[in-house]
Amino acid sequence: MYYYSTRDKERAVKLSASQAILKGLAADGGLFVPSVLPALSDKVSLSLSYADFAAEVLKPFFEGDELYDELADICRGAFSFPVVLNELKDVSVLELFHGPTSAFKDFGARFLAFSMEKLLVRKGEKLCILVATSGDTGGAVASAFHKRQNLSVKVLFPKGRVAERQRRQLTCWDDNISSFEVRGSFDDCQRMVKSAFVDPSLSGLSSANSINLGRLLPQMVYYVYASMLYKERTGKEPVIIIPSGNVGNCTGAYWAKAIGAPIKRIVLAVNANTTIPEYLESGEYKPRDSVRTLANAMDVGAPSNMERLFSLFPSYEEMKENVSAWSVSDEEIKKTIVDEYRKEGYVLCPHTACAERVRLDHFDGEPVIIVSTAHPAKFDTVVEPLIGATVPMPAALADLVNRPSTFTEIGTDYRELF
Ligand SMILES: *Cc1c(COP(=O)(O)O)cnc(C)c1O
Repeated sequence: MYYYSTRDKERAVKLSASQAILKGLAADGGLFVPSVLPALSDKVSLSLSYADFAAEVLKPFFEGDELYDELADICRGAFSFPVVLNELKDVSVLELFHGPTSAFKDFGARFLAFSMEKLLVRKGEKLCILVATSGDTGGAVASAFHKRQNLSVKVLFPKGRVAERQRRQLTCWDDNISSFEVRGSFDDCQRMVKSAFVDPSLSGLSSANSINLGRLLPQMVYYVYASMLYKERTGKEPVIIIPSGNVGNCTGAYWAKAIGAPIKRIVLAVNANTTIPEYLESGEYKPRDSVRTLANAMDVGAPSNMERLFSLFPSYEEMKENVSAWSVSDEEIKKTIVDEYRKEGYVLCPHTACAERVRLDHFDGEPVIIVSTAHPAKFDTVVEPLIGATVPMPAALADLVNRPSTFTEIGTDYRELF
């Protein structure tokens, strides 16, 4: 098993899983993908704990790698919270929000943090992770890397541009995590991170963004788990509908299907950012600037993991055969949240509402799992006025939001970070 860059057609450069995880982005600017998608082993069984299940799914992807024997340990550390397939009246909901920051990014960020810690402690090396964030990612990364040995994190966020609850999740840390409120925009934050990476006087810097292989691989596991559980409960293979932005989460689902998970079809629900549905319609891929929507973690006009989907489905015909995508407007998001609350008493976050809308419009009555990527309490300012009720925060989230805030306010010069 090795990993190569999506841009390396000859597969000239072969990396181990660990090397790909530490490197993040390939030297040629491409994304790392597995050389083969190995079939699920018989040891993958629902009678295992989720962490042990995850280790069994991941083992073939770490064949010959220095982390192979550590996988069970890494998974037990990273997946210390439940994965829930909730059966509502009409639909099954895969709730990926039971982790420390109440969103699915906890899975990837925590697996990455625990993997990097093992590798760095072995090597006796240290890394500092820089993360520019406008919301969700920074919180998940800070939480995942908090107190991990040989690692530190600097979180940059734009002053006055993140929601109060999100800001509190970015600034409630101590120990090896520091937060910087930048007097500038999110683009300024990203520019500062990029400048730091290319400054030859700085070394030992890395990123933890969603293109890292260490974030992708664990996102495959819950699709294997949920589809097996669904099949055990109903005897049927589900269609899985995934709220998508940078298409990292759904790439995990395509890998899961490729290794043999019982999935009938994978469907992408996007917001008013229509790059992918338009491509599937026209055959022309036209990335563009994003537009702002209520499902803001999916406000992406140039999906960063698209190269991985192109590497799985190189021709337009293959892409059309395997990928469906529908766009959901803000008005439809609102209506879906209200209707679902009235009908089932169940509160959807704006992202999950996109998946439910696509189900109702295109797959009503079929066996479907919709994926819930975040807890609705994270988006209280959108959701609560719609349903006319408060959404209680999960205990873990309430704990973060109530901790004291510490951060440093800086300008837009990256040297102020060091
Ligand atoms: C990041 C995020 C998404 C989009 O996931 P991708 O992997 O970028 O497609 C959807 N919903 C929520 C809540 C997110 O935080």
